[in-house]
This record gives sequence, C-alpha cells and structure tokens, in this order.
Amino acid sequence: MSTVVNPATEETLAEIESAGVEETDAAVARAKAAFPAWRAVSPTDRARLLRRLATLVEEHHEELSRIESRNVGKPIGGARGEVGMVAHVFHFYAGAVDKHHGETIPVAGGVDLTFREPLGVVGLITPWNFPLNIASWKLGPALACGNTVVLKPAELTPLSTMRLGELALEAGIPEGVVNIVVGKGSVVGQRLIEHPDVAKIGFTGSTEVGQQVMRGAAGTIKRVTLELGGKSANVIFADADLEKAAAAAPYAVFDNAGQDCCARSRVLVERSAYDRFAELFVAATRKLKVGDPLDPATDQGALISKGHLEKVQSYIRLAKEEGGHILCGGNVPDSVCERCRNGYFLQPTVIVDLDVNCRVNQEEIFGPVVTITPFRTEEEAVCYANATPFGLSASLWTNDLARAHRVAERIDCGTIWVNCWLLRDLRTPFGGMKNSGIGREGGDEALRFFTEPKTVCIKYSTERT
Ligand code: NAD
Ligand code: MN
Repeated sequence: MSTVVNPATEETLAEIESAGVEETDAAVARAKAAFPAWRAVSPTDRARLLRRLATLVEEHHEELSRIESRNVGKPIGGARGEVGMVAHVFHFYAGAVDKHHGETIPVAGGVDLTFREPLGVVGLITPWNFPLNIASWKLGPALACGNTVVLKPAELTPLSTMRLGELALEAGIPEGVVNIVVGKGSVVGQRLIEHPDVAKIGFTGSTEVGQQVMRGAAGTIKRVTLELGGKSANVIFADADLEKAAAAAPYAVFDNAGQDCCARSRVLVERSAYDRFAELFVAATRKLKVGDPLDPATDQGALISKGHLEKVQSYIRLAKEEGGHILCGGNVPDSVCERCRNGYFLQPTVIVDLDVNCRVNQEEIFGPVVTITPFRTEEEAVCYANATPFGLSASLWTNDLARAHRVAERIDCGTIWVNCWLLRDLRTPFGGMKNSGIGREGGDEALRFFTEPKTVCIKYSTERT
C-alpha cells in the first residue's frame, strides 16, 4: 500500500495498492494482446478516438486541475493551464497522425516504399512535477501511431494519470490499449525496462535514473528516449530590457516551486548591469506569494514532499558553506494559512557570491533556489552557461539581434528562449543535450520516436540489375 499525500496540507488523498512484477507482467501481456487490433485501426479512426479523449479532458478540466493541484501542491492557476495543454496535446496528435506516412523512392529497376510502423508495447515512465502534462506528451503520439502502452506514473503523484486512464476508456479507446500501473520505480519501472515484450521506454525523470534506464535497456536492445535533469542558465546582457528581464526571471525559476526541469536556476548577468538587475530581481521575487495552492492569488505552492524540502534546504546550507550570501528567502515561511500549516513550503531564495563550479551551481536542486553570477564578456557568458554537465534549456536577454543568434548557437542545450522565459509550442522539438537526455518530444519528433521505419523494395524491371 502506498499513501498519496497532499504536500500542501499533509492530508491523505488516497491509499493505493502498489503493483509488483506480476501485475506489471500482466499489464504488458494485456498491452501485447491489444496491439494487433489497435495497430489495425485506421489512423483516421485512431484520430477520432484521441479527439474524443481530448474533449473529455476539456469536459473534466476543473476536476483534473484540482486533482493535480492537490496531489502536487501546485497553484491551481498553473494546474489549469497544464490540463488545457493536455487536451491540446491529444487534439494535436489526432490532427497529425493521419498525415504521417512514408515515402516513395524510385530506385534502379524498382521502387522503395517506406512505412512508419508502430513499435508494439511501449513503456512510459513519468515524474511527479508535471504528471499529467508529461504523460500526455508521451501517450498522445504513442497511441496516435498505433502503439499500446503501459504507463507508470511517479508513486507520489499517480492520481491524475489514473483518472486519465478512465477517461481513455470512456472515450472508446479499447481495453488493453492504455494500461496504468502504479508502483515503485525500482519494481514496476525496472521490470518495464527489462521486459522482452516492451519495445521502447519513454522516460522523463532524473539523470541518475535515466542512466539506469539506459543500462537496463541494453539487455533487450530497447529503444529509449530520455528527458532528464537540467541546470539551465538565464543570461542577461547589459543591453537587454533589464526591467522586463528582471520581471520575468522569477517565473523562469520559481514556477512550480522550482521543480521544473527547465528551471533557469543560474542567472548570469553582465557585470555592468549586475547591481541594477539584482535589485530589480530581488524586488520582483519578494512580490511572489507563497501560499495555499487552491488560492488563485498564489504564485508558489508547496514542494512535493518533506524529504524533498529537506534536500532543498540542505543546498541552502551548502551555499553558505561554499561562501554564498542570501539576498532574499532561505527559510520556511512563518505562516502560509491555517489549512496549509503542515505543508512543505519554502521561500523563493536568491543566492549570490558563488563560484560557477561550486556544487550549488553544478547540481540540480529542483527547488525555489537561484544563484546570480556576474560575467564580463560574451565569451565568458557562453563559457559559464555551458559549465555544467546538463544541457536542457536556457534563456537569453539582449536587444542585439546578432548577439542573440551568436550566443544561441553556442549554448549547448535543447531549447533557448530569447527575451522570454517560456513559450512552449507543441510543434517544436523539446529535449536535452549532454546529461539532460536523448531524443526529443513534441511535434513530428515524437511521431518519429514512436514509430520505426520499414523499407519495402519492389523490383519491377525485367532487366538484370
Ligand atoms: P525520478 O528519476 O526520481 O523518477 C522518475 C520516474 O522514474 C518515476 O516514475 C520513478 O518511479 C521512476 N523510477 C525510479 N527508479 C527507477 C528505476 N530504477 N527504474 C525505472 N524507473 C524508475 O525523477 P522525479 O524525482 O520523479 O522527477 C524529478 C526529475 O525529473 C528531475 O531531475 C527533473 O529535471 C526531471 N524532469 C525532466 C524533464 C524533461 O523533460 N527533461 C521534465 C520533468 C522532470
Ligand atoms: Mn526523485
């Protein structure tokens, strides 16, 4: 049994039987049995079913948003936006899959036809920070392409994914096509990775577990897509609109209480603008309201668990040991509200005077903690931005167009946002370089990674070739 808790109140939301290896094998067997019929459904009809699922998500928008907000401790406004995106994802892949087909390649004496075939049973493993969003990014394209799915949500946050599984059935997606299995990563996740009947693992989570996924997948030459950790930079040049950059920077790191793979947790500022920027940034950070996630005025909710809160606090202590100084935050807030008195809250925290190579600037903290570091030249900015093992995303603020292109080209990461903190369009590839992962989600990229090309070569010339 595992207890699912609301991290903002510590109230129990559900008690769930944890699946073991046997239940995982049974789910894989169901998915395997459902595959032949599901792949035979025409793309137009699969699209119709996905559209119905999208509509059901829209009809249950408030219910799903509340489940997500209560289970993750995130502000209801953010949860509503995420659930809106989930519906959009299913609409998107419903609209994409009937236009997804192969090529005809004339060859000497014949013709090559390419087909994009589904892989079979795919195992999807998701983290706790954006449970439903991340599940939908994988589930949408996997189903659209004709795969059947075993989906394992994070133990801490299974509730919205379980509800989505019910909605998939209600939408008319046949039994056995979508299988949600709730259980431990080391048991259910590990079994999916090693199971000979699972063709691919789509994984989002930490770099550490991502390494285990890759290792485990080797035994069956399983395909893997890995969306892993980050330590993203927010690079601010003195020629930027400093007011705008400073107003946006808190959201780029403190959104979802910093529990965001893309959190721009290292702000790098050109020395001549450093003092002014730091002042504006701290003022903007102080305005953030840490509070009850169900209160629409709340900017930052709770952290996911007591253990995680303690881990984030240990980084604040470490920052002091490493010579850092706290400009604001650093503590558990005195009082959030009566309902949330037992919740796992932490003030948004800004730290300065740390070396780029210290642990606080190297390791993913995954909480509301940001450092500010000055740089002198464009060269140094690029060097600092690249000075971690990660490469997921970055932000860049400048009014010099040539510089924007130059620096964007040189920062090693999957996505760079110029003069904004987030603009996520479903048609664009999303994923990481370096230790931030392998593969891309979004748009056509996801259709590619949930299919395998097959070439059929037909010879029609009677002449010898
Ligand atoms: P995690 O790696 O601890 O767990 C992710 C999932 O893997 C969970 O479902 C977990 O149960 C499962 N798991 C754990 N051990 C496993 C094992 N041995 N075999 C198979 N599965 C196993 O990550 P988390 O704590 O849930 O989430 C936070 C991490 O996710 C951060 O590092 C964050 O950067 C990353 N993340 C990345 C992206 C991205 O798109 N790149 C998005 C969101 C989160
Ligand atoms: Mn974890």
